[in-house]
Amino acid sequence: SYNFCAGPAMLPADVMKQAQQEFIDWQGQGCSVMEISHRSAAFIELAAQAEQDLRELMTIPDDYAVLFCHGGGRGQFSAIPQNLSQSGQAADYLVSGAWSKSAVDEAKKYVDVNIAATIGFTDEEWKAPEQNTWSLSENAAYFHYCPNETVDGIKMPYIPQNIKAPLVADLSSMILSEPVDVEKFGLIYAGAQKNIGPSGLSVVIVRRDLLGNARANTPSIMDYQLLDKHDSMFNTPPTYAWYLAGLVFKWLKEQGGVEKMHQLNQQKAQLLYQTIDQSDFYNNRVPVEYRSLMNVPFQLADSSLDSAFLQQAEQQGLLALKGHRMVGGMRASIYNAMPLSGVQALTDFMQDFVRRMG
Ligand code: PLP
Repeated sequence: SYNFCAGPAMLPADVMKQAQQEFIDWQGQGCSVMEISHRSAAFIELAAQAEQDLRELMTIPDDYAVLFCHGGGRGQFSAIPQNLSQSGQAADYLVSGAWSKSAVDEAKKYVDVNIAATIGFTDEEWKAPEQNTWSLSENAAYFHYCPNETVDGIKMPYIPQNIKAPLVADLSSMILSEPVDVEKFGLIYAGAQKNIGPSGLSVVIVRRDLLGNARANTPSIMDYQLLDKHDSMFNTPPTYAWYLAGLVFKWLKEQGGVEKMHQLNQQKAQLLYQTIDQSDFYNNRVPVEYRSLMNVPFQLADSSLDSAFLQQAEQQGLLALKGHRMVGGMRASIYNAMPLSGVQALTDFMQDFVRRMG
């Protein structure tokens, strides 16, 4: 079967197999990796190797810290303003979908949020204002945006240019799916449960000159400088998730790295969008240049066939295609772990469904 869930999402089959083999006896330790101390030499080595592999995969420069944090993507929605801004300061946010909107709602508790621009469908009409029309604050602490919106299937086609404030990006649903120029960003973060590993873990990549400005009342486990000082082990880290993330990084290197994944991801997305666009039966409204490579929402022209579509798909082992509760319809998430054969199986099914039901 193929699992198209937006997250937690499927992990590479090879990784799951290895984890299964090592489950009760990791590296001859006589117990699971989840049962050993995070202070043990064996775990410290695992953790360092995972960080090293991620650094290689993403070409992360040495002046960036890599943190393995608790609290998922949303945890960072509140950690970011607490670490990067002082009370009463402004921060600019681009809203391009449900997740950047959620980031705004959380940040408002801490910082004076300015919405620089809104991209997406407003009253059924697509709007994507050019960057030169955005309204930026005079002294923003940072500029936050979400390059790939998981719910809406919207991907920013460019990195904002010449923004004075440090760029902060929520890469939860696209990290490691294509090359990203880390140096353009002050901070990158991602919840793990799509392209990295189990939920709960999040990865933060932050330029070191931004460390050390956390507000006095920031929870210690969210204080980037403190986490960096303790190699992300100020408290007990999510060790099993970290281990699985390390296996995924190794797997990615074996596949040929992020460039290679990007080629494959483009191929997968192209096949799926083609199938949608070719038929009046299916519809995706996002303009081509803003379409996500990872999350592909689509509607059936006749929504009364939705449940038949989902039921028959499931019978063929095509799982979790139901769209997000906020937008309805269907959504296929095709992260790194989804092989081309999975997308092929889905598009074959979609074409067959049209023939039988259309
Ligand atoms: N940001 C994006 C882009 C997401 O897709 C998600 C979750 O799906 C989140 C943030 C929130 O992550 P979490 O549920 O780990 O808090």
